[in-house]
Amino acid sequence: MKAKDYRSDLDPVWCSGCGDFGVLKGLTQALADLEIAPERLAVVSGIGCSSRLPGYTRSYSFNTLHGRALPIASGLKLARPDMTTVVVGGDGDGFSIGLGHLPHAIRRNVDITYAVLDNGLYGLTKGQASPTTPRDVKRRQHMAGEADEPLNPLMIVLSSGCGFVARTHAGNLPHVREMLRLAIAYRGFAFVQVLAACVTFQAPGYANELFARTAMLPADHDPGDFMRAVEMARSDQFMLGVIYRKDASP
Ligand code: SF4
Repeated sequence: MKAKDYRSDLDPVWCSGCGDFGVLKGLTQALADLEIAPERLAVVSGIGCSSRLPGYTRSYSFNTLHGRALPIASGLKLARPDMTTVVVGGDGDGFSIGLGHLPHAIRRNVDITYAVLDNGLYGLTKGQASPTTPRDVKRRQHMAGEADEPLNPLMIVLSSGCGFVARTHAGNLPHVREMLRLAIAYRGFAFVQVLAACVTFQAPGYANELFARTAMLPADHDPGDFMRAVEMARSDQFMLGVIYRKDASP
């Protein structure tokens, strides 16, 4: 099957230029690479702009409650271990109201892939600051600048014992495809942070500044080295690639 065969008949209602398009494309390409049968695929989300994504896939798609995609996907996978299960959602959905579910999904190590489309704001509700909004960023919604320190999602998942941790950027489609392919193929809970642009509510130039802060992991990076992974997760640059990986049993 080809990537287009994993698309539903629905046309995305995302704003033109939204980073979520790249993730939808990269995900369908990864699914085609892995030759996953659509009738053996479940794509689950919470609420938000990026949480519309399951409906655009040819799968058993499930748009659940705000922040509740992980426990629902975990139950689905436990009941139907034959289903490849992918969870998608935004940083507000996953790192605010849904954050309490993340360490528990990780410690249960259910074999699901969790891709967070992280644009550093709540897009669906018009651009409020999210847990990953960088400090001092000024937008129409908070003109004085964001006062709080952002969460570091990679540190949260690493410290919770996640066996597969990767980061990519929605503007780099081949890399999105590769990271999602590796995550879905990984046997255990896999986490992928996808840095994405919100062209409507981010300040002009923010997307370019974000992209300029990204860098590929060094060629000699050993994803089995936990302390090195922590170092990469704490870098001032957004390091892209498989930051940490260990063998896991579902
Ligand atoms: Fe994408 Fe932002 Fe538009 Fe939502 S508001 S669809 S995140 S560009």
